[in-house]
Amino acid sequence: MSRFFIELAERWQRRWREAKVFEPEPSPGTSKFFVTAAYPYPNGAIHIGHGRTYLIADVLARFNRHMGRVSLFPMGFHYTGTPILTIAEVIAAGDKTVMEEYMEIYGVPEEEIRKMGDPLYLARYFHQQSKRAMEGFGLGIDWTREFTTIDPEYQRFIQWQFEKLRKKGLVVRGRHPVGWCPRHSMPVGAHDTKDDKEPDIGQWTLIYFADGEGLTFPTATLRPETAPGVTNLWINPDADYVVAELNGRRMVVSRDAAFRLSFQGEVKVLREARGREFVGRWVQNPVTGEWVEIYEARFVDPKVGTGVVMSVPAHAPYDYAALRDMGLERLIPLIKVEGYGEYPAKEVVERMGVKSQTDPALEEATKEVYSAEYSRGVMREDVADLVARHLPEPARSMVRAVFKMYFAGRPVKEAREFISKWLVESGLGGVMYDIMNKPVYCRCGTEIVVKVLEDQWFLNYGDPKWKEAARRLIEEMAMVPSDAKAQFLATVDWLDKRACARTRGLGTPLPWSQGWVVESLSDSTIYMAFYAVIKKIRQFSIKPEQLTEEFWDYVFLGQGSPEEAARRTGVPPEVLRAVKEEFDYWYPLDSRNSGKDLIPNHLTFFIFNHVAIFPSEKWPRQIVANGWVLREGEKMSKSKRNVLPLDRAVEMYGPDPLRATLAIAAEVEQDLDFRDAEARRNAQQLMAIYALVQRITQTAEDRAPSWLDLWLASEVAQILERVKEAYQRVRVRQAAVDVLYNAKSAFDQYLSMVERPSKLAVEAAKAWVIAMEPIAPHLAEELWAVLGGGGFAASAPWPSLKADPAALLAKRYVDMLIEDVKKIPAFGPGTRKVAVYVNRRFEWAKAALSGDVRAAIQAGAPPQAAKRLVDLLKSLGEEVRSLVASVEKFDELEALTSYKPYLEKTLGASVELYDAEDASAPDLGGKKKAALPLKPGIYLSS
Ligand SMILES: [Zn+2]
Repeated sequence: MSRFFIELAERWQRRWREAKVFEPEPSPGTSKFFVTAAYPYPNGAIHIGHGRTYLIADVLARFNRHMGRVSLFPMGFHYTGTPILTIAEVIAAGDKTVMEEYMEIYGVPEEEIRKMGDPLYLARYFHQQSKRAMEGFGLGIDWTREFTTIDPEYQRFIQWQFEKLRKKGLVVRGRHPVGWCPRHSMPVGAHDTKDDKEPDIGQWTLIYFADGEGLTFPTATLRPETAPGVTNLWINPDADYVVAELNGRRMVVSRDAAFRLSFQGEVKVLREARGREFVGRWVQNPVTGEWVEIYEARFVDPKVGTGVVMSVPAHAPYDYAALRDMGLERLIPLIKVEGYGEYPAKEVVERMGVKSQTDPALEEATKEVYSAEYSRGVMREDVADLVARHLPEPARSMVRAVFKMYFAGRPVKEAREFISKWLVESGLGGVMYDIMNKPVYCRCGTEIVVKVLEDQWFLNYGDPKWKEAARRLIEEMAMVPSDAKAQFLATVDWLDKRACARTRGLGTPLPWSQGWVVESLSDSTIYMAFYAVIKKIRQFSIKPEQLTEEFWDYVFLGQGSPEEAARRTGVPPEVLRAVKEEFDYWYPLDSRNSGKDLIPNHLTFFIFNHVAIFPSEKWPRQIVANGWVLREGEKMSKSKRNVLPLDRAVEMYGPDPLRATLAIAAEVEQDLDFRDAEARRNAQQLMAIYALVQRITQTAEDRAPSWLDLWLASEVAQILERVKEAYQRVRVRQAAVDVLYNAKSAFDQYLSMVERPSKLAVEAAKAWVIAMEPIAPHLAEELWAVLGGGGFAASAPWPSLKADPAALLAKRYVDMLIEDVKKIPAFGPGTRKVAVYVNRRFEWAKAALSGDVRAAIQAGAPPQAAKRLVDLLKSLGEEVRSLVASVEKFDELEALTSYKPYLEKTLGASVELYDAEDASAPDLGGKKKAALPLKPGIYLSS
């Protein structure tokens, strides 16, 4: 069956191309819709996860075209950065696993894979493969605006952007910790790591415990405020340690820590040692002056912090449990927390029934104590008496005074900040950065560390004014799903300086500093503007060197005059005006689409950079962030070999069934589980739609519309109204369910009720086909042609089919009658004849709608009937009640006459219709007077 859909698609894709259906030109006076989706990295082929995001963008573009807007959906390719280089290197080195993955998953032929050691060859290969996949999938992309991020025009654009940011003081140089691959010697972000894991950089406070013989033991802690309560240190006796020169001291740290610290400062290893060598040594707490012993503990992980840990049993469940195992119990209380006694750690360990230091429940206990103390804890007033016991007067009093002021009685949060700063400033401690969500691996397989870069270029996302502007845009713009706003606001809060340039990789050189290349999450933030102008730049053969600051300032910001810019660039003023007009037509962007994984990075940077560069009238209007795509319930990953490339999926199912499945299997923000069986079911459904429309066209007759014909048109009109609303609200699944399933059911029901369809059914089908076009565009074009639509379905205006409430009421009324007949106990296979007595006083029913018996009486109903009628109308559903309200005249007898063949077929009996007020009609079983408007009298005979 996929063959059928592929051939159909190829035919229409060719015609779209020939007619340039998706190459819009600005049309002043007509509104526009400009949507983009995150361009792909061509370091592999795109898969159905990309396909889902692109489909949603395409559906929006196509829907807005039907709404009469000039609709633009362009696409480019992101060559920037190191992912392409890294893969090419790995292939050049002959890595069997990667080569096999590429051949097996992406279907790369063996002779091609050998050439992929060349990064540009690799990028171009997947660029072309992905582009073919997008075309085959039926995306209505304007390829006249296609570019790669290493094109010279793009580079000039990015250089302009960075000069702008620098002049606004948003690019800074300085010392800053970054995630770092030791093998590649370069910063790494989420895009460079395995599984796209963003390295979480955290900070330990180091506290220097000295042994009086020239050795310092720096403990690493996240809770420096507990330093006055240290009873001992822990060291792992079996782990490797070193004695190293560090920060001007001889320090003992784990060998692993020495390696990690070497990226953050000078580390000179003097000798190696085992942990046990230091067990039993006494060291002095620099905060209190107290001497404490180093104990052994196998729970100390040499890969975490320095491998030297301080023990605070009153407030750390692990420490308490370990000391209890050793038969030691000395508790120094520091923090008061409501709901706990003096020793929260002890209390929780005992309450949870923790057996020993290896009990897994300690994890939970630790979480509870830490979070309670951090959020609600206050330092005790007497902690100041613990500090500086070793200092002579007046030094001791001075230190205690400072601690009384900033530490004792303060919330834990504040006390922590104070003591951390105090330790560093008084030289009694330091800081150490670490990956808190370790292990995180570079794509090359090396574990990432934290490096402190001294002369790195950063975008200063920590700038408070910049953050404020970003928040304003987030508040203003539409978001799907709307709760993504909270996530954006949280990201804006924690975002700080971010490295924006690297010394390695493809991309744009920093204009003012040699040897730096703008990295990939920094050169992809405002490129949507570039789509708006690249077509004209090419049309007018403007050379890259003419794309100067004056050029972009004028085109994007309206700064300077075209004459002035023309003198500087050599581009004629009228050309500059034309490029600017094009930009002003398309910008701002109406919708930015991507997967939700890009919210904490790309999409947030997109917001920041727009507010920094453009005036508010050019700020983007909407973000759509869709959920993941799973396959048969599992995450897609190269190692599982279950990645489904888009071109392969198109081949397996055909583009329209694939689109239908990616639209219908989950609502936009939800994760979507792609299942083969579901894709095949959707293909069947589309096939059935194809057959159904063929049948309608071939058998339709020209007749005055009957109630049934009017009902179909009205039912379809109602469904399409819902579909329109769903598209507007980016409820793509909702739209797909209605247009592919519910509308189809209405047609099926209609065909089962009529002998032959009418021309009105053909009109309803035309309307239906336009509404289905955004989701199944190729099938829609084919059916549009079959129905004699003229032109392309893709370009047709949204249908103006109107619902006729009387026709809808007639159908609901007939369905109610059928139900009433079937509910009569005597009704059965033996029923030969059904006599129906109709009360044609519809105006009584309308009056009874108010619930007021008197109103019905006033309308002419006899008192008895009025009372029953009010009860009847109360019992009807909301939909029928509102139809009764909106319909002025309704002749039940006429409606039933029209539906008589359907009634007889459904009930399996002959049906006789009588006007209850017709004196000449027989009064079978006295049912004449039982008839109420909307509730006929019924008499069965066998
Ligand atoms: Zn690496």
